[in-house]
Amino acid sequence: MCKLSKYIKNTIIVFFTIFTFTGICHAQNLKWQKMPLLVCLPPNANTPIMKEAFTNWQKATKDKVSFVFLTANSCPDAQITVSYTANKTKSKTTFIYSRGYFQKSHIEIGLLTKDGKQAEKSVLLPLMMHEAGHAIGIIGHTNTPSSVMQATVKSGYYITEDSIRQINNLYR
Ligand SMILES: [Zn+2]
Repeated sequence: MCKLSKYIKNTIIVFFTIFTFTGICHAQNLKWQKMPLLVCLPPNANTPIMKEAFTNWQKATKDKVSFVFLTANSCPDAQITVSYTANKTKSKTTFIYSRGYFQKSHIEIGLLTKDGKQAEKSVLLPLMMHEAGHAIGIIGHTNTPSSVMQATVKSGYYITEDSIRQINNLYR
């Protein structure tokens, strides 16, 4: 089904796209080696929402995953970096990993809705929670009603128990 064919020494890059239902590479049990994770959030209008998205994961998992936010324009030490693309509807999270552990992750948030408008906070927050969910190690999507880890998220979606269980299993 899914070939992880592009080996660059020990490094493999995995792609997630929020509106993509197929082609997800099931690289099982990849995780971060230790917490907290350094997240680079440069000054931007969307930064408070992105911060809220990460914080929601930390709260939902009772600190199984935790974050320290760096606010410089560039943070070479950060494990997770975030960028925003004004004219894209798609968002994605990419990884570099080695020997079962994530080394770096980048989240790209598309700020445009499918009908060509700028996404509002009610849409951006679940979208950012979705991508943050991938960035902390949730591989693939769920069919659980109202879960932010569904392949397509809507306003009002939230972190559901199955996702919390996945994170608890990953970081026990
Ligand atoms: Zn996704």
